[in-house]
Amino acid sequence: MKEVRLENVTKSYDGINLAIPGISLVCPRGEMLALLGPSGCGKSTTLKMIAGIEAISDGAIFFDDMDVSDMDTASRNVAMVFEDYALYPHLSVFDNIAFPLSVRGMPRTDIGERVERVLKLLGLRDISSEKVQQLSGGAQQRVSIGRALVREPDLIMFDEPLSHLDSDQKVQLRTEIKRLQQTSKLTSVLVTHDQNEAISMADRIAVMDKGVLQQVDTPSAIYNCPANIFVASFIGEPPMNLLDAFCSNVSAEPRTHFGTHCDVATGEQVWPQLARRAEGAAIVVGIRPEHVTVNPLQATLVLSGQVHAHEPGGDSDVLTVDTPIGRIVVEAPAPILLVEGDTVQLGLEPEYFHYFCKETGGNLLLETL
Ligand code: ADP
Repeated sequence: MKEVRLENVTKSYDGINLAIPGISLVCPRGEMLALLGPSGCGKSTTLKMIAGIEAISDGAIFFDDMDVSDMDTASRNVAMVFEDYALYPHLSVFDNIAFPLSVRGMPRTDIGERVERVLKLLGLRDISSEKVQQLSGGAQQRVSIGRALVREPDLIMFDEPLSHLDSDQKVQLRTEIKRLQQTSKLTSVLVTHDQNEAISMADRIAVMDKGVLQQVDTPSAIYNCPANIFVASFIGEPPMNLLDAFCSNVSAEPRTHFGTHCDVATGEQVWPQLARRAEGAAIVVGIRPEHVTVNPLQATLVLSGQVHAHEPGGDSDVLTVDTPIGRIVVEAPAPILLVEGDTVQLGLEPEYFHYFCKETGGNLLLETL
């Protein structure tokens, strides 16, 4: 397995418009990196450039210290796992996994040994002689992972590998892929539009929008410290509440204001970092729905509002509440015994606030001043 590194790689399909204006990214050896973003943000283009399926327009791609930018796919030793499995339905599990080795003319005994190893690793030995068309989607995807592994590639790329599976199989297979990736220390790139997949499987997530990297970090850092408003609203379900605000510091008492009639003390620990960029400027305060409390006994900021909608869930319910400072979505333990039109008090704690620049969208606590 190798490290994969993209250095200022660009891609234009028509010579004019840049699908990828310039991306620099590292997937360290043995790690899984997820490319995550909405449709059209450039995930597949990036994956295809790494695999050598699409030529890059500029920049360079390295596998360890080797520049592979001009190498064809076959010479890069990259294995792909696709969303539609791409197996031969009339062949057995064994023969599908053996296929990449047979076409290379590897001796039969060597093929047998390698395939057996992979069958064992993936728990497929009992069904090795079954035709793949008889298997469930989850089992078929395990076969296609086996076919990728048997080549002993330098890199495995997973292209939306769970998209065609039902939710039970999805959860099972994503655990299975994670286990394999960790135990076999596979350098892997995962392309997905599903944040749950990226969060549960990847060591690090590269969030993309319009061909541009927005943040590359661990799932928890991306969730707890989003680099900008795009990442803040893309990661997390229901999405983060975003409220227009501004900061003041009259008599050395920093406060965060929502409109002219509602304000709260700004945490002393964040003010030194916020002060220069936020004082008097238009900002956006982000608050995750799970950090808002319903009818709290005690809270630093209490807002009165009317329930606009109540969506019951399993463990938690989602309330949408109209307050004087805007509509706020709350996620709280079920059951919440409130219906549309009810009056409710919401509790907000500044320690959970995220502060963004309204103009640039950047996280004011992350930006270097
Ligand atoms: P994603 O995988 O995130 O949905 P893509 O990489 O497929 O995004 O697309 C990124 C951008 O490149 C989009 O604007 C898309 O229209 C464009 N694009 C992708 N493939 C081609 C192609 N073969 N020819 C022209 N434009 C393309």
